[in-house]
Formats: sequence, structure tokens, C-alpha cells
Amino acid sequence: MAQYIMALDAGTTSNRCILFDREGKMCSVAQKEFTQYFPRPGWVEHDASEIWTTQLGVALSAMNQIGAGPDQIAAIGITNQRETTILWDKATGEPVCRAIVWQCRRTSRYCDRLKEEGYTDFFREKTVLVIDAYVSATKLRWILEEVPGVRQRAEKGELLFGTVETWLIWKLTGGKVHITDYSNASRTMMFNIHTLDWDQEILDLLGIPRCILPRPVPSSGVYGLCDPIHFGGPIPIAGAAGDQQAALFGQTCFEAGEAKNTYGTGCFLLMNTGEKPVFSQNGLVTTIAWGLNGKVNYALEGSIFVAGAAIQWLRDEMKILEESRDSEYMAGKVSDTGGCYMVPAFTGLGAPHWDQYARGTIVGLTRGCNKYHLVRAALDSICYQVNDVLRAMGADSGIGLSALKVDGGASANNYILQTQADLSDAPVVRPKCVETTALGAAYLAGLAVGYWKDLEEVRKNWAVDRQFLPSITGEEREKRIKGWNKAVRCSYGWAREE
Ligand code: ADP
Repeated sequence: MAQYIMALDAGTTSNRCILFDREGKMCSVAQKEFTQYFPRPGWVEHDASEIWTTQLGVALSAMNQIGAGPDQIAAIGITNQRETTILWDKATGEPVCRAIVWQCRRTSRYCDRLKEEGYTDFFREKTVLVIDAYVSATKLRWILEEVPGVRQRAEKGELLFGTVETWLIWKLTGGKVHITDYSNASRTMMFNIHTLDWDQEILDLLGIPRCILPRPVPSSGVYGLCDPIHFGGPIPIAGAAGDQQAALFGQTCFEAGEAKNTYGTGCFLLMNTGEKPVFSQNGLVTTIAWGLNGKVNYALEGSIFVAGAAIQWLRDEMKILEESRDSEYMAGKVSDTGGCYMVPAFTGLGAPHWDQYARGTIVGLTRGCNKYHLVRAALDSICYQVNDVLRAMGADSGIGLSALKVDGGASANNYILQTQADLSDAPVVRPKCVETTALGAAYLAGLAVGYWKDLEEVRKNWAVDRQFLPSITGEEREKRIKGWNKAVRCSYGWAREE
């Protein structure tokens, strides 16, 4: 009987492979970085062939490390950097140009034009997305317009489009399967989330030939078999989801109101809103979480640009601490921040403030403030920002937060998690396994092949490492949040030209 599920985690800077067992335990891990290309300011590219070869390489190395053969792997699940756009030749498998990465801003101007021409509601109604250069549709259009000869080849049906999971599945199956999962499709801005299909009016507007698009499918299901040439046997590929959605699944946030936050360089917060899309009044993104068992689950998503990066800044630029993890004991050296607040709006503020001209500020300094107060204020700023997004999600969805499940590098910091529980007045729970992105992909694939029976069985694998409960009064909470709001207002508009 097969012992493992293989998760392929195709990230923005590196590709990883993890083999999980039935308990959700990591049995083997391999990781490799790949090249980032920055051909012009604001442009970001990857070599899709390198994404494929590194991904295959780490998969083989994860198998070799524990001597796992193809018959010991029940299925493969894939999770990936979202929106990144690849177009390749159907006959040769050669990409027509480098992959345009989600971070790439090259289509900003075209997006502004679409907004000026009044297409905001058109896209919002069909795709629930706000027009922005990070989505795939305008990147695909750019390739069709700008790379010589590509449009004609696309129209003749010689080319195929895909986001990263589509590309990897096509390569793994030896060019037999050309699909995308709903969660990835929902980030392209050409996928109609009401019909769960590509939207012809959008395709017409952007000039995208339908014949190059993959078939949208649920996030869990046997999509096809790997060409035995890769692993020595035909392993089924049985699940796929975008990275943040996979993390939500890996945290077993299966019900409306369950949410996860990833504390990394920035923060990614997702809340399951159930089977109906919730439209945000607060600048949050509505997204398909996954398609499973004939149903589609939606989520609200909010991101914070600077979280752990504020600690990096104190470490690398201010030299106040040596290692990020020292922030925890340093914050504990004082009983409060001495009335000071830090707003790490280094690159502006995202949801729910949306002020690209905001800049970092430290306010409320007094003669007695020392480095411990500052470190504490920096850690608090992470929690205040997360709390702002959580409140916006609550207001948009009308759903109360039952608990916040956490992961990411900075979730190791107990001070952050206790402060989060205090400020958000909700339990904050850190699981034993914080590799939730890969785990989510593994679960989606394992469920499809019966490796795990159902969601309940999967849920049993989720084990608490530590739970943090609110420990301050409502009055104290409101006082602190009021101070934060005042500090945030001080950061607004700073970089705007007078
Ligand atoms: P990413 O995946 O975004 O690159 P990680 O999830 O590895 O990042 O988290 C790294 C970030 O978390 C860094 O910004 C670092 O400063 C911060 N960080 C890591 N450990 C801690 C800690 N114990 N306390 C506070 N911040 C931390």
C-alpha cells in the first residue's frame, strides 16, 4: 500500500517537494532556488523550463532521500505561486518567452487604461477582482501583443497558456493534460466565477483566443498520470491549489469563519467565507478557495506588505537586534511600549487603508523610550495590521472569527501571537506542522485517491502546538487600538507631493 503523498510546492523563489504520511508528518523534504530575472525596473521574470527542471529535480531528490519508489506514492498534489503566466508551444513544450511573474508591473499602464475606460465593474462582476497588473490576463495579453509571431501561432492553436500548476501538470503528464484548478483560475481575471468557466466577453475584450486556455477543474480529483519516464511509474496527479488557498486548506479551515494568517516577510490573511462569494467594501480580494466534492468555497484575502520585514529592518538597518528571534525576549524586557507606536508603512499601506503614499513613522516617543520599547512597538505593529484586516473581513462578511490559525516564520514568536489574541479578542492557534501550504496540496490530492477518507479524517491530523487566549480587557483593547489608529493617520499621505 502506498505510504506517501507527494506535495510539489512551486514558490516564487524556490521549488520544494515534501513527502507526507497519513498523519501529515513530513517524511522527506528537498528544496532548490531558481533564477529571478529583473530585465527592467518593475519587471520580474522566471524561466519556465527552469521551474520545471528544478521542480522535477527536488521531487526525485525527496524520493531518493528515503528510497521511496513510485509505487509508494499514492498521489501528487501541487501548490504554486499564483498568477505567474506561461505560454508555450504545444508541439515542442518550449515556452515562447520567459514567464511573467505575479510581481511584474509591466501591464500597469494597460490596467489604468481599462479602469479609465470604465471596465472596473465589468471585471468585478464577472471575476470579483480589482483590475491590477498582478493578475494573469493582462500579462497574457502582453505576450500575445509584444512577442513577434505569437498571436498568429496562438490563433492557429499551436500554443498553450497556463499558470504554474497548469504548466507542471502538462509537463508531468508528458503533454497529455492541460487543466487549471478553480483557485488558480480565479486569479487570472478572465475566469467567470459564477459560471466556473472562461468568460467570452473578457476574452474578446483582451483579444485572447480561447483555444490556448486550459480546462478549469476542481482542486481535488485525478487529473491524469505522470509519464513513467519521470519517476519510474505512473503516479496520479490528483490535486492543485494556489499557495495561499492551499495554506488555508492545510490549516483545515474548512468552515466559514475559519481563518489563517501567515506571518512572514509580509502577512497573508485568508478567511473562508463559505459557498458564496463575499464582495469587499474594504479593499479585500475575493477569491475561490477551492473546488471540492462538487462545491466551491470562497475566501476573503488581505495582505500586509511589511510584517516580519519590520523586524528585519530593526536588525539590519538599525542594528537594534542581532537575530529576528531575539525580538521576543527583548519585547519582554519592558511591560509596554512606553506609549510609542511604530507604523512600518515603508512601501505604503495595503488593506484596509490603501494609501500608497503612506510612509513609516514612529510616534509618541518620550525621553524614556529605549530599544526594548521600539522592538515591542515593531512587534505590536504586525498585530495591529493583522487586526485591521481581520476587522475588515468581519465587516465585509458579517462572520465572526472563530479562531485564527497561524503559520510562517514569525509565528514562532510567542509574544506576537499573544498580542494578536489580545488585540483581536480571539484565540490564536499555532499548529505543530507549520508547512501548511505543501500540506494543503497533499490533502487535496490524498482526498481524491482515498488516501484520506474525508475532511474529518484530515482534520484529525491538525494538532495544536500552542494556543493563545485573549488576556486583556475590552477597555484596554480599545484604548490601544485607538492609539494605533491615531498613529496610522500620522503616516498617511507622507510621500505625496505638495
Ligand atoms: P517568507 O516566506 O516571507 O520569506 P518566513 O516565513 O521565512 O518568510 O519568515 C521570515 C520573516 O519572519 C522575516 O522577516 C523575519 O524577520 C521574521 N521572523 C522570523 N522569525 C521571527 C521571530 N522569532 N520573531 C519575529 N520575527 C521573526
